Amino acid sequence: MTVASKDKIAIVNAQIVTVDKNSSIIENGSLVVGADGTIRAIAPGQITHNATEVIDARGAIVMPGLINSHTHLGMTLFRGLGDDMSLEDFLARLQPAEVKVLNYAAVHAGTELAALESLLGGITTSLDMYFLPDAALEVANSSLMRIQTGPNFLESDGPEPLKFADRLSWAKKWLAAPRDSAGSTGWVAPHSTYLLDEQQLRTLAELASEFEARIHVHAAETVGEMQLVANRHGGRTPIQVLADTKLLRRSVLAHGVHLSDNDIALIASNSATVVHCPASNFKLASGVARILDLQRAGVNIALGTDGPASGNDLDLWIAIRLAGYMQKTVAKDPSVLPAVDLVRMATINGAKALQLDHIIGSLEVGKRADLIVLDADSPSLTPSFEPHTTIATCVTRADVRHVLVDGQIVVRDRECLTIDRKSAISKVRALGKQVLASVNKN
Ligand SMILES: [Zn+2]
Repeated sequence: MTVASKDKIAIVNAQIVTVDKNSSIIENGSLVVGADGTIRAIAPGQITHNATEVIDARGAIVMPGLINSHTHLGMTLFRGLGDDMSLEDFLARLQPAEVKVLNYAAVHAGTELAALESLLGGITTSLDMYFLPDAALEVANSSLMRIQTGPNFLESDGPEPLKFADRLSWAKKWLAAPRDSAGSTGWVAPHSTYLLDEQQLRTLAELASEFEARIHVHAAETVGEMQLVANRHGGRTPIQVLADTKLLRRSVLAHGVHLSDNDIALIASNSATVVHCPASNFKLASGVARILDLQRAGVNIALGTDGPASGNDLDLWIAIRLAGYMQKTVAKDPSVLPAVDLVRMATINGAKALQLDHIIGSLEVGKRADLIVLDADSPSLTPSFEPHTTIATCVTRADVRHVLVDGQIVVRDRECLTIDRKSAISKVRALGKQVLASVNKN
């Protein structure tokens, strides 16, 4: 065979979890990243290549980078600030602290630490919802982690501060500018149906439609939210309100814990995605999402960590494990939500939610090389007879050895090459003093 241009990286001796249509596994396989950062070849055995960098996986699992489909990256600043309390009490404690502490530099610092934590843990793409999204995009550019974000809206004026009308005109300018080389049309993030009124929600649907942006919204997370929404919106559920205000179509719904049969039918018929965030749901005692019913209805289900203030970490391996264990226990059936489904939820289903499944989410020729090489010498991953099962029940963040985004090595031997670990940690530590002071004053 002839190779026109120089290959970038070849990964050999890998147990490749492709997450392709058939969830194929390639034993003792090779994967070659071409000069343009795409996967040029993937096959069993050896592949002819001219890459200067060769990674010998030594039998370890190689799989797509994880996709965290719901998070608030900048909230590393508030990690552990409101634990052992309800979501409503937590938000009441958090929101004044956000207004006092957040500015561009603070959101940048919080997001940078989150990107460091994410990349070291095998997350290569995140759907973010937070204030000052330009700060997150700056981190995306420097760290190379893919961050999808956009203007968010809730009743608070936020740290900018911007009243709803001003935020709307800022959002129009923001969405008009091209942001993303990956082809995203952008995001509009109404926080929820309990923190916005009917007219505001309709206005945001018009905004998204004008710019062909997608909707990222919290929905049906807690019993408290269901009551607030019913009171505010004439007895309707959050999903009904989203449908009535034209926000549901192809939206990304964070949580979806408390859903009626009618809500599930609406979600399915509107091709929306539910992002299951089991760690956050368990910690806040929010409830158990009807994942199996959503699956039966044909809904795309992705996984998220939620923000590090409610999560409390950005660990998608834990989300994979909890999601499976929770559904098995509730269904009293260990065969439900098998490992293959869980791996798809953390990878290709996330890519589908973000409408990026044509470029990421699986390891296939022509897709961008966003991938993880796990540790061949990890005692807890040995042996790995069926790698989906290994991923769903054994892998932890400590097992992530190398991470590639867009064909570039961003983590090598557990060290992040694109973010200075010391500096990222010390910046957030310093801001922690301000966070504590702002809470103590309330
Ligand atoms: Zn959230």
